[in-house]
Amino acid sequence: MNSTDRKARSVTILGATGSIGQSSLKLVDAAPDQFNVEVLSAQNNVAQLAELARKHAASIAVIGDPAKKDTLSAMLADTNTTVLAGTDGLQEAARFPTDVVIAGIVGAAGLAPTLAAVERGAIVGLANKECLVCAGDLFMTAVNRHGTTLLPVDSEHNAIYQVFDFNAPESVSKITLTASGGPFRSASLVDLERVTPERAVKHPNWSMGPKISVDSATLMNKGLEVIEAWHLFPVEKEQIDVIIHPQSVIHSMVSYVDGSVLAQLGSPDMKTPISYALNWPSRMDSGVTTLDLAGIARLDFEEPDENRFPALKMARQALQTGGGAPTILNAANEVAVEFFLNGALAFLDIPKLVESVLSNISIEPLESLDHVMEVDAKARVEATQRASRRN
Ligand code: NDP
Ligand code: MG
Repeated sequence: MNSTDRKARSVTILGATGSIGQSSLKLVDAAPDQFNVEVLSAQNNVAQLAELARKHAASIAVIGDPAKKDTLSAMLADTNTTVLAGTDGLQEAARFPTDVVIAGIVGAAGLAPTLAAVERGAIVGLANKECLVCAGDLFMTAVNRHGTTLLPVDSEHNAIYQVFDFNAPESVSKITLTASGGPFRSASLVDLERVTPERAVKHPNWSMGPKISVDSATLMNKGLEVIEAWHLFPVEKEQIDVIIHPQSVIHSMVSYVDGSVLAQLGSPDMKTPISYALNWPSRMDSGVTTLDLAGIARLDFEEPDENRFPALKMARQALQTGGGAPTILNAANEVAVEFFLNGALAFLDIPKLVESVLSNISIEPLESLDHVMEVDAKARVEATQRASRRN
């Protein structure tokens, strides 16, 4: 089916004011006959959310911070947009029947709304990797039970999804996630001690929100992605490899038993994987610059350095331990990154804090979503106390 042959698709964008949300809206704006934006969410940015809801004549605008509901209602008083707020509002909005949901909320806060979309069997374009890190088994059980089409938007996982032979997973020998290495790939430990938030959020290749930019700088992002990959693809933990590839041209690769390696390449622009989800199963013109390999001239690769960037090893260990370990890792990391961004924690203390939280909370199997939220909350309290003590 050609993208222009089908009726317009209705779209929900969770995290519309963020980097993923804005890239999604650019794609939708470029193909107004093919998409109707019905549901939009933000956490704090009430003015931008109101503007977007008005522009798209959205059915629902939902603000995560309940204290901002009245402001949003006043801003949209002369429209037909329904205003919702808070965590219940986010879930209710995600349940509104649309064809495609782009899950672009940052952090474990995205879990409940994304699950609500999964449970109604929508096509879900998943950017919010923290969903899979903190509750991967429960999340994938819901995906399978409800027949949800889950399409990875994270560029590495989208790449693997495009070249993975799901009909013959036994023919896959390994998958390799590429990592740019972040802005401090070549920095010494002494340099890393002095990293400021301003420098950490400046990624060399990708333009992203502050949290994932810091995660890319610590390599925790790649650790979270190893866990994400394990939930998304039928491979063993040991079959998930990571390689540093500074140009971010090869987005990831699948190696097969016959020696073939299939990769997906492209300019580093999230509009490619987002467009893949928005228009699945056909491709659409994303407006992304065509890859100019001669201009790039060379592709480099190196092993990740686990001494300078221990977060990757820590995430692998959490995956190996299982149960609530990845949930704790994720929650502690979210707290650590927030402290770092507020100038209240040193860059090298981010993985140290995560490690100390992990080794001070007993790890149990996760029984339910409520249990996940309980473990998440406990880890946040522990991380906050430990981070505050460091100051
Ligand atoms: P941003 O920080 O740019 O945007 C986050 C969005 O989520 C904003 O709309 C924000 O609203 C909203 N939000 C923040 N906190 C909450 C909360 N507690 N409850 C509900 N909504 C909230 O993040 P990104 O777009 O960079 O990342 C989004 C997700 O996509 C992350 O999980 C990230 O790991 C993943 N991802 C992102 C990539 C990228 O290129 N940016 C690449 C691959 C994955 P407000 O603006 O009002 O604060
Ligand atoms: Mg990624």
